[in-house]
Amino acid sequence: MLSKQEIIDKARELQFDDIGFATAEPFEEHKQFLTTVPDNFTWASIFGLPLEEGCNPQSILPQAKTIIVLIENYFKFSFPKSMEPYFGRCYMDDDRVTKDGLTVRIRQFVSFLREHGLQAKVTFSIPQKAASARAGIGNFGKNCLLYANNAAGKSSWISPITILVDKAFEANEPTVRVGCPDWCRNACVAACPTRALKGNCTIDSKRCISFLTYFGQGITPRELREPMGTYIYGCDRCQDVCPRNRAWMSQVLPLNPRVAAKEAWFDIVKLLHMDEAYFQHNIQPHMFYMPASDLWRWKMNVARAMGNSLNERFVPELIKAYEDNSDDRVRGMIAWSLGRIGGAKAKAALERWRHSATPAVKEEIEMIFL
Ligand code: SF4
Ligand code: SF4
Repeated sequence: MLSKQEIIDKARELQFDDIGFATAEPFEEHKQFLTTVPDNFTWASIFGLPLEEGCNPQSILPQAKTIIVLIENYFKFSFPKSMEPYFGRCYMDDDRVTKDGLTVRIRQFVSFLREHGLQAKVTFSIPQKAASARAGIGNFGKNCLLYANNAAGKSSWISPITILVDKAFEANEPTVRVGCPDWCRNACVAACPTRALKGNCTIDSKRCISFLTYFGQGITPRELREPMGTYIYGCDRCQDVCPRNRAWMSQVLPLNPRVAAKEAWFDIVKLLHMDEAYFQHNIQPHMFYMPASDLWRWKMNVARAMGNSLNERFVPELIKAYEDNSDDRVRGMIAWSLGRIGGAKAKAALERWRHSATPAVKEEIEMIFL
């Protein structure tokens, strides 16, 4: 039977950044938490993740005795400067659909455990941050994110991977605590543009830009458009301002070649004009939270990002997109964005559309001329 050290050595050989061991007892406290803020976890039901069930690891693997937690630093390489203003870093090299990056190493690790007689099951349903803290390899930030105890310069640029196994290994000393220094005056809370962070490790997920970019319903409310800035998919603001991430971010890192290879597909002008085939071929395999039927949301987000860029070079693109799209949510946001960028060409287009627009779009246009 495998020893704990042999498992640690394998994780290192496969270039995981840390590994910890936790008992597989139920996460009672987390279960309680889920019931107090059910709205914060709407996203999980969209993906069919049974989070409440996941609070009891034995409901996923009845013989579970230990949770092995691997830590992956997804910011070992830098990201293209053309993409960083628009996309959360954790999404730019996400292989959960293509399964050609991190997934390969996870599979190799799980095969290793199984080849040595262990029952092993990867799960995303158990509370991963809580499991990482229980396994002694992570602690919490007031921005509700997990920070590494040892890996990635102790930053939050990490993804935990949880694996249930049927053998009891000696558990690590848990580090279930908030690790923020006293001197930080809640920079993340102050910097959160949509006031999703409420302080003391609480968040209103429905106001979080990440949630809004991929699950927001209808046209983005007016009061959130400017605060959402140029983010199209995800948001890193509360991590960018965090002093706990400074050390890692001060490095000059080589460019991520996997992301660089797809950089051109994510050009925001192309995203504004993309059709379903382009989306399914180039975008969805990498950023998949929105199906093709939500193409309107992609375009609405891109239009808002262009508006918030205040860059006149986007005006002709926005005008073309208005004419090519009939969706009120896209058109309404284009109108708002043209109003925000301003200038003679934008104004002339808005004047032109003013009388032929549907009531919803017309309302957006009239707000600009008020
Ligand atoms: S990801 Fe962005 S919107 Fe969400 S809590 Fe952090 S700063 Fe706020
Ligand atoms: S910005 Fe400050 S309070 Fe927020 S997570 Fe970082 S250290 Fe903690």
